[in-house]
Amino acid sequence: QAAAATKTVRTTCAYCGVGCGVLATPAVDGSVAIAGDPDHPANFGRLCSKGSALGETLGLEERLLQPQIGGVPATWDRALDMVAARFSEAVADHGPDSVAFYLSGQLLTEDYYVANKLMKGFIGSANIDTNSRLCMASAVTGHKRAFGADTVPGSYVDLEMADLVVLTGSNLAWCHPVLFQRLAAAKAARPQMQVVVIDPRRTATCEIADAHLAIAADGDVALFVGLLNALVKEGAIDRDYIERHTLGFSDAARAAQTMSVRKVAAETGLGEAEIGDFFELFVRSERVVTIYSQGVNQSCSGSDKVNAIINCHLATGRIGRPGMGPFSVTGQPNAMGGREVGGLSNMLAAHMALEDAADRARVQAFWRAPRIADHAGLKAVELFDAVADGRIKALWIAGTNPVVSMARSGQVERALARCPFVVVSEVIAKTDTAAFGDVLLPAAAWGEKNGTVTNSERRISRQRPFLACPGEARPDWAIFADVARRMGFEGFDYQTAAEIFDEHARLSAVENHGSRDFEIGGLSGLTEAEYDALAPIQWPVRARRDRQETRDSRFFAEGGFFHSDGRARFVVTDPPVAATLAGKLVLNTGRLRDHWHTMTRTGLSARLSAHIAEPFAELNPRDAANFGIKEADLVRVMSPQGEAIVRALITERQRLGSVFVPMHWTRRFAPSGRIGAVTHAARDPLSGQPALKTTKVTIKRF
Ligand code: SF4
Repeated sequence: QAAAATKTVRTTCAYCGVGCGVLATPAVDGSVAIAGDPDHPANFGRLCSKGSALGETLGLEERLLQPQIGGVPATWDRALDMVAARFSEAVADHGPDSVAFYLSGQLLTEDYYVANKLMKGFIGSANIDTNSRLCMASAVTGHKRAFGADTVPGSYVDLEMADLVVLTGSNLAWCHPVLFQRLAAAKAARPQMQVVVIDPRRTATCEIADAHLAIAADGDVALFVGLLNALVKEGAIDRDYIERHTLGFSDAARAAQTMSVRKVAAETGLGEAEIGDFFELFVRSERVVTIYSQGVNQSCSGSDKVNAIINCHLATGRIGRPGMGPFSVTGQPNAMGGREVGGLSNMLAAHMALEDAADRARVQAFWRAPRIADHAGLKAVELFDAVADGRIKALWIAGTNPVVSMARSGQVERALARCPFVVVSEVIAKTDTAAFGDVLLPAAAWGEKNGTVTNSERRISRQRPFLACPGEARPDWAIFADVARRMGFEGFDYQTAAEIFDEHARLSAVENHGSRDFEIGGLSGLTEAEYDALAPIQWPVRARRDRQETRDSRFFAEGGFFHSDGRARFVVTDPPVAATLAGKLVLNTGRLRDHWHTMTRTGLSARLSAHIAEPFAELNPRDAANFGIKEADLVRVMSPQGEAIVRALITERQRLGSVFVPMHWTRRFAPSGRIGAVTHAARDPLSGQPALKTTKVTIKRF
């Protein structure tokens, strides 16, 4: 592989939502040296194991390098003509809602923007959803309910400034390792900082924890409703903030009154003493950050969990000030960028609302679009159900592998097998999902792509290319734009990623008059050279002069919420009813330290694969004894959806009554280890996010 450049290129990591800056230096022999960017405000030179191994995963052995039709190499012209014709036919014969896109938080903002514009403004459907639905849809719902918009109120530096950091449903040490390193360093420098981890498992994050609350699955709503009750009783609320900036406190406080410590204990499986200690710590700590991630979001009560957490911060006015606030950390490198362009089936674009006629008219006029989607599209689980029952006639999957990663992934296989026309644009030739593609389109990979991503603290960073696209691979945005033109649509004549970013930035400010704080209108009008040189920057960016600022931006210290009256909303949340579990365990799935999603990239690094070589089921010793399982036995993990066969790992770290299995393994790396086949499709009724932490399973020795 020839290096396209021999100088060091500043770019951004391809993996998690921390969004670390990377220095990539290609050598003439084709190798690429990787280092952390000391000037990037997310990581200041740090990288985790995955980020530092990026150079080991750039080989071409597994790449898709040429379009294919029916498994046979084809020209781009033939492949794109076919995609355009089949999508146009489906729309003409069955209407706009008969087609769908399923995208990925791995795509760049520019890719997302073009796909979203094509589907919502030109095809006229909102059937565009992404694997971000599996990641943070509940956080989006919670933010919108409380704040009036999907806004993360704080910055990474707040973790370092806090007196108390609460991590709930977040194994930060493995899933956001550099952010964890920053937190660990802050705690080492200031040992009086308290860290509380709330998680059914004793994870690696507990290494720096002062307390670990091994909560029962889905106990979070009860815990944080109980905390609100304790805050009221102890007089720890900020009445002035509540009165000036919020609505609904009395209802939320009244609903919380019955949630005594004893009741919290009954609902969460925690001890009264440890609950009381946590509440007391929260009451007396002024600077509190509560971090939440998939353990909160991937739940039938995910949205309520988010709002129960936010309620406690609103009640104490601990939001938007240094070292304070609720903080959702996103899984993927560009989940936030996807949200900015509206790349979910219930969003529009630039944080405007699909359900708002004025917003729809504004976006349609800006795009000069022939139509605009006027109702929410299908969310991920429903989308594949609609493929399975024949409502979707043409489906385009870009940059993701739902046959492995989706909830109840056996249903995805059945759906794809029945779908009349499936397009897969991919970097890797033989993923479990690509096997179902009628047309495969070779996409540019990390190191070749050019665009922007937005991390968990809303910081926009450039991904810059340092390798030429191999074979016939092309950027995703160019593929979507080419299909749009072939479908007869105008407004897709982009030549560069910079043009697309400019359009996106202008749309974020159109008719805005500075009233939307997620605006990046100040980044419009960049020249190609300015776009190329763009330094990492947090939104909002309202004016050109903001571009050079290196501030840490926060929201809501003085109110200014996005509901029409400027006030935040308390949300009354009900703890879910605990399910009975006779003879069953609660399956919890999640990530490991050294692998990413379905291993298509990290599986290429021997170093990363050496960390944990095979999939496993982590079991409490008493559960193992009850099921007759011994250490290192092969076990079947079974549900009505399907089964996986993995190695037993027996440990006190695992809570009694639950079992953890990592999400990563595909058929290529472990033929029977695909846990997505076991997970159920239950989901949060508001966010549509699958409850991937609570499938009921049985286990049996293999
Ligand atoms: Fe990449 Fe996340 Fe690791 Fe940073 S913490 S190097 S963004 S995987």
